[in-house]
Amino acid sequence: MLKEVYDEARVCVRCPLSRTRTQVVFGSGNADAGLMFVGEAPGANEDKQGLPFVGQAGKLLDKLLDEIGLARADVFVVNVIKCRPPDNRDPHPNEIESCQGYLRSQVRLIEPTMICTLGNFATKLLRGDTTGISRVRGQEEVRTIGNRAVRLYPLYHPAAALYTPSTLEALRADFERIPALLALGAPEQPHPPELEEQIVDDVPELEDDLPEPEAGSADGQLGLF
Ligand code: SF4
Repeated sequence: MLKEVYDEARVCVRCPLSRTRTQVVFGSGNADAGLMFVGEAPGANEDKQGLPFVGQAGKLLDKLLDEIGLARADVFVVNVIKCRPPDNRDPHPNEIESCQGYLRSQVRLIEPTMICTLGNFATKLLRGDTTGISRVRGQEEVRTIGNRAVRLYPLYHPAAALYTPSTLEALRADFERIPALLALGAPEQPHPPELEEQIVDDVPELEDDLPEPEAGSADGQLGLF
């Protein structure tokens, strides 16, 4: 269950970001959503509130969703990294590797038909190569993530569009295609013998070696999904 993964994540000490975060930002939205957005990492506002995309970039995300007839409650929003990197620096490779098991579990449990990656980090991780966002944005493709085939749709990160009109224009044009892509439904799912983990295979399983969550703590996020 998603809540069990959340209970593991909110006490996670798998990487050094656990020492500097205020709280884990697990993600929020509709756990039955067909559409997921995957950003980079929490910023200062997210770290404070425990929710993803609550600053200016989040407001732009809400506006772009509204323009295509969707709301935050219709989708599920997460980040590659669940804890804020100090001074909003880029996540380090070891942090991404340590954290990606949570994202993989979120995709497995939410079962989206489509995932929009926002910016370079999410796009490179879920596409499994180093091609930059400017070369692949707006180009949908079917990718297998864990055991699930999804339509992967790379987009610019809203933060990159805040102060660059041409980037905002491109992001808005890509958003306008989302309803039609969603209407295609889920791509054909892989048969069991073909299942391959396309996120790095050697991510440790999440369940066994984590401390028990403290009773009653961090309940503020429990109503989010
Ligand atoms: S960033 Fe991810 S792996 Fe690192 S402590 Fe936070 S939840 Fe754990």
